[in-house]
Amino acid sequence: MQAAVTDVTAAIYDGIAKRIGQQKFRVWFRNSTSLSVSDGYLKIGVPNLFIAGWIENHFLADIAQAAADASGQSLKITFNIDPELAGAARPSATVSHSNSSPALTRRDTDAGLSGTTGSGRQKIAAINGYDKMTLGNFVVGPSNQLAYNAASAMINQEDNPFNPLFFHGGYGLGKTHLLQGICCAMRKSRPGSKLLYCSAEEFTNQYLFALKTKKLDAFRGRFRQLELLAIDDIHFLANKPSTQEEFLYTFNSIDLAGKKVVLASDAHPKMINQLCERLVSRFVSGMVVKIEPPDFETRCRILCQRVAVLGHDISDKVISCIAEQVRTNVRELEGALLKLIAYASLNNEKPSIAMARDILAEHIARTDPIVHVSDIESAVTTFFGITPADIHSSRKDRTISLARSFSMYLARRYTKMSFPEIGRLMGNKNHATVILAARKIEELVKSNATVNWKGPGGNKVAHARTILNSLQKTIA
Ligand code: ADP
Ligand code: MG
Repeated sequence: MQAAVTDVTAAIYDGIAKRIGQQKFRVWFRNSTSLSVSDGYLKIGVPNLFIAGWIENHFLADIAQAAADASGQSLKITFNIDPELAGAARPSATVSHSNSSPALTRRDTDAGLSGTTGSGRQKIAAINGYDKMTLGNFVVGPSNQLAYNAASAMINQEDNPFNPLFFHGGYGLGKTHLLQGICCAMRKSRPGSKLLYCSAEEFTNQYLFALKTKKLDAFRGRFRQLELLAIDDIHFLANKPSTQEEFLYTFNSIDLAGKKVVLASDAHPKMINQLCERLVSRFVSGMVVKIEPPDFETRCRILCQRVAVLGHDISDKVISCIAEQVRTNVRELEGALLKLIAYASLNNEKPSIAMARDILAEHIARTDPIVHVSDIESAVTTFFGITPADIHSSRKDRTISLARSFSMYLARRYTKMSFPEIGRLMGNKNHATVILAARKIEELVKSNATVNWKGPGGNKVAHARTILNSLQKTIA
């Protein structure tokens, strides 16, 4: 029995190494983890919480797959601190909470579902000592000041200053944090008040389930009597007309009762395609606030705050070095910091600038804002209400041709692709067609001509420069 178990763990290690590559395997697994399999569980021993968080966030799907392959069943994965491994690390380099909690109690992760980054994110948030995303630990700077003020106003004012409050902005900039922060503050200031935070996806699933099981009344009762409803990633409703309609009623009921709705999305309401006009106009009649990427100073303050929470000692120079190199968003920033700390604790060293440069090199290459043609296509297709497949097709109707011309123009401007390459990708056109299309857009923009097209909700019209500006904002 014992031998069989050992074979399985060896096979799991093998599988992990094959999936993630020898180099990463050496750094994160070989000497810093132990594995055991019993009763449908794969237990991963780790030296400290950081390594657990790091491994979970980056390799969970690979581990789950390797475990399933090796054992022939879907294993649940748990992490625990292995004193032997922990003993190998210098005490100052281990996290402060590891002393107080010898074994980490964590929700089990179903190996079958483990690929979802969302849940991984929440778990690492708990590891970081950030059980909650509160307004108190939201670092305010010029990029998010307005959003933060609006959030505070929403909590402090009894009557509704605006409804809904709508946050939008790129990935990892703090939208979810603000939504949860609002809920948290409301729970504190008005204990017992009915509030709910959920993603638009959950809202959709619950609605469809209620519809199927003929329990719409219960569903409506649950949502429409809330004092605060926070829905995250509302752009998920794009393209789902019946859920949109249900949401509109939900919103209206809450609004009529003088209660509050707060929403977050990756795009301005007008830029979420396939969102019905009535919803768009409801959204823009509330308060729409954009969150921008944080500037250098704010990035430093976010890092300092995180370091303080973690109880680590990292010099200002190293903090500046991370803040300088990782510019895109807060999630990447946190990831870089955790990576550095985890790496330092593995090597029993204090994080240094040299280490930061080394460790972040891969990270930076990956997160630098290079524009990919897929970014362009996704901006253009969202704007015009078509699909990337339409752009790649040879269809010639007006909206598709127009969208394709914009894509070609932007691809030429923002990527290193040549005219023939762009042509091949976008509808198998020859390079002369691409040149003509790019020139056509240039002229439209120069004269700021009025452009007409057919959107999903009917005919649309806008000035060429307005279109270009929106598209550039989305991709750059
Ligand atoms: P989004 O929902 O916009 O994609 P999140 O709200 O999930 O982004 O933020 C990503 C991570 O960055 C979270 O861990 C969050 O706590 C953190 N974060 C974002 N903005 C701030 C901020 N201003 N201060 C502190 N932490 C922040
Ligand atoms: Mg979010």
